[in-house]
Amino acid sequence: MTKLEPGAARPITGVLGWPAAHSRSPVIHHYWLKAYGLNGVYAPFEISPAEVGGFFKMLHVLGVRGLNVTTPHKQAAYAAADTLSERARRVEAVNTLTVGAAGEVHGDITDGWGFLQNIETESAWRAKGGRALIFGAGGAAGAIVDQLVEAGAQVVISNRTREKAAAIAARYTHSVEVAAWPPDPALAHDCGLLINGTTLGMLGHTPDPSDLPWARITRAEHVVATDLIYAPLETAFLADLRGKGAAIVDGLGMLLHQARPGFERWHGVDPKVTEELRAAALRTTGYLP
Ligand code: NAP
Repeated sequence: MTKLEPGAARPITGVLGWPAAHSRSPVIHHYWLKAYGLNGVYAPFEISPAEVGGFFKMLHVLGVRGLNVTTPHKQAAYAAADTLSERARRVEAVNTLTVGAAGEVHGDITDGWGFLQNIETESAWRAKGGRALIFGAGGAAGAIVDQLVEAGAQVVISNRTREKAAAIAARYTHSVEVAAWPPDPALAHDCGLLINGTTLGMLGHTPDPSDLPWARITRAEHVVATDLIYAPLETAFLADLRGKGAAIVDGLGMLLHQARPGFERWHGVDPKVTEELRAAALRTTGYLP
């Protein structure tokens, strides 16, 4: 751990995206740097897809110790990494880069880990022996399916474009099945965890209620429902399932937990997700004063 001392070198970390200015990651990392009295800089790096290859080559020279990577650079970061975690290799995407002392770049993907930490902290659902239905088969859904399978869950994927769900399922020899879009509601009733991993319900996109793939689910009293979207905090999906009796876990906690492994690698402290951090992140989404 590098304690805050005047004149000491300040490790540079940050978030890489295009755009990057909207990212909540600086709020999270600044909160932890201050909370643990650590020396460090956390900056947004807004780099275009055309320039990101050159940027990766400069990380060591610039003194960058680590990066959170967001859209659209997760595949480019995967390709640029010298070494990869097992889960990044399986998912073929990277959201966390760590630059070693000799300039070697390690890539990891922490979205699925952050998702599961949040669910198991905020609800009684457990992956080991559990069954989950996920709507969506994009990048985030792929990372979550991987983590759930690793942790011992059965997963059903329902996606508008069935081929993308099938491509994720094909990574595993067991534990993952592909359902229709929308799925048979009876299938959903057999799952203890329902996940919206699509962009349906993001701020600025008001979905047509008749299009929503969860509309025909009627029984949700014994279900935990969670969304990856955190703006708005209570999405159309969560409101609908809450009305049907489900316990609700919002998407903000995943965002906070997925940041922990990178911070620990860069600073040597496993940071805590606290109510105070959650409130600070919420203020940046405009849902709290
Ligand atoms: P992505 O790779 O672009 O995938 C988008 C998914 O949404 C695909 O499954 C896509 O289906 C589906 N979709 C989009 N429009 C749709 C429509 N009109 N009808 C039905 N399905 C539709 O995105 P991603 O990176 O996985 O992100 C997904 C969501 O998770 C985003 O809202 C993102 O902000 C959120 N997220 C949150 C966190 C967190 O920490 N809380 C982390 C990562 C992502 P098709 O395959 O058919 O196109």
